[in-house]
Amino acid sequence: MKKYSVVATALLCALIGTGCDKVTPSFNMQHVVETSDYTNLADVAIIGSGPAGLSAALYVGRANKTPLVFEGIKPGGALTETTEVENWPGIPHVQGPDAIEGLKKQAQEFGAVFAPEQVTAIDVSSWPFVITTESGVTIHALAIIIATGASPVRLGVPGETQYWGKGVTTCAICDAPYHKDKEVLVVGGGDSAAEEAMQLARYARKVTVVVRKDHMRASARMKERMATYPNITTAYQSEVTAISGDGFKVTGATLYNNVTKESVELPVNGVFLAIGHIPNTDICKGNIALTPSGYIQMEGRTQLTNVPGVFAAGDVEDDRYRQAGTSSGHGISAGLDAVSFLESNGYTPEIGKQLQDRLYKPSVAKRAQLADIHSYPEFETFLEEHPGVVVVDFYTPFCPSCLHMLPAVQEIAAEFAGRADVVKVDTSQAQDIADQLKVFNVPVVMLYKNGQLVARFNKILSKQKLQELVLQFLY
Ligand code: NDP
Repeated sequence: MKKYSVVATALLCALIGTGCDKVTPSFNMQHVVETSDYTNLADVAIIGSGPAGLSAALYVGRANKTPLVFEGIKPGGALTETTEVENWPGIPHVQGPDAIEGLKKQAQEFGAVFAPEQVTAIDVSSWPFVITTESGVTIHALAIIIATGASPVRLGVPGETQYWGKGVTTCAICDAPYHKDKEVLVVGGGDSAAEEAMQLARYARKVTVVVRKDHMRASARMKERMATYPNITTAYQSEVTAISGDGFKVTGATLYNNVTKESVELPVNGVFLAIGHIPNTDICKGNIALTPSGYIQMEGRTQLTNVPGVFAAGDVEDDRYRQAGTSSGHGISAGLDAVSFLESNGYTPEIGKQLQDRLYKPSVAKRAQLADIHSYPEFETFLEEHPGVVVVDFYTPFCPSCLHMLPAVQEIAAEFAGRADVVKVDTSQAQDIADQLKVFNVPVVMLYKNGQLVARFNKILSKQKLQELVLQFLY
């Protein structure tokens, strides 16, 4: 199979010396049409389904190319974990998940195809680019848009890892109900900290926002809104230096005042981190140029990376604005750039038609309805009656990560029907189960075998991970 090597072109360019930046690799669309080895094709593969990815999909779809959106482990991205959004242009008040849902529908209307999968690797050293998913599928993409967003930063203090998911978390919307009438800390001084504090203030007795400087950098509007909650206070020039607990959950934290140099122990039930994000660039390493601070390097005022045909948009490349609206705008630009790349390299409506049948179509897996368990006695009885492998999905209806994971859990239930049992527990209703099993956050997944707990995860799991676990304990 003849491949058009971007890297080879760059190397040749380095050897020749002058005019290197003007050398572009050959992207021969006709060759793709004629080469049947290129299966599972994608016109434009979009990795990530937040505002950037979905907006890119909308524009690619409107240009009569088929956008293939890899939704990742958290479809919709960070916006699905916010509540009220006041700065989404055109809609004065919208819930984060609704804004995402609207964008997704709009992209679907223009032909966007959604793959509920995580991309584990990309290879842009040859064209068509190669994408590998967690389930092992290989896709050949004519263009790629990376819109993988960013992940919350951790503090790195003693106790943080031990109590992660046991009171230390980054998702107030998921876990606030576990802190009813309790005292909690929010660490950070940005918009996310203000947002987390307000979500928690609806449940907790007292919320202290721990800010390392003498001011919060959150927007004026967010600070004004925060000030309307009488149970939120702010500890300025303060840092959390340790988190302590009783072995099962957080019971306190050490607060260090960086002016007086004094530390105090605070009895708190939870520590919520909102100290910024790091761009999700794992798949880029060795492939795509990054800035010194780890964001994808953009070429001029475009969404192009250092590799022709590969674009990026949103929090993975933007270290300055980081708004849902700007991500969406960057996604639009990336969509336009990708379309222009395809067309300027010979992608015509005729070629589009010829490739149509070879485009990747994600398979739709069967899903089984899950039984809910409502009380601890019912849970014990269930385990007694089901001595094989039992997967228990602990969730609440208001936890976005739980909703993201549910389809994967339902697919596992269908796949292993008759060999393993899968049930769910709404911990906002079945409080006795949450107390007995010390579930202080969601989602939590537990696996039982012969009635005994064999594995517990205090986080969202992918379908592949769930599959691996069930197989591990089945045999
Ligand atoms: P930011 O980077 O804006 O803020 C991070 C905060 O954490 C800063 O106050 C920073 O302190 C503090 N911090 C960083 N590291 C530490 C540490 N090790 N210990 C203690 N404090 C630390 O991140 P956000 O997640 O708040 O916001 C990201 C972007 O998303 C922003 O552009 C924001 O506007 C946007 N956003 C918008 C929302 C909305 O409009 N509704 C909601 C949420 C986010 P320091 O100030 O000292 O550097």
